[in-house]
Amino acid sequence: MARVTFDEERCKGCGLCVPVCPKQIVVIRTDKLNSKGLHPACVERQDLCIGCAFCAIMCPDQVIEVER
Ligand code: SF4
Ligand code: SF4
Repeated sequence: MARVTFDEERCKGCGLCVPVCPKQIVVIRTDKLNSKGLHPACVERQDLCIGCAFCAIMCPDQVIEVER
């Protein structure tokens, strides 16, 4: 199982990482704000992640790290 981590303080909540996930497990956390007042992205079901890193490649701000 791959592990995906998000640097929430760097995330601007643009959502570019959401549609590229083939497992549809990347979501924007509308229930949470970072210190800039933006909704960060996260992975909902870590156990379903296949480690493809599409989300990390898509992110323009290097927020996402994928460990396989
Ligand atoms: S590594 Fe791939 S499967 Fe895992 S969250 Fe990112 S896009 Fe989705
Ligand atoms: S693409 Fe990067 S900055 Fe945009 S929501 Fe996803 S993690 Fe945050």
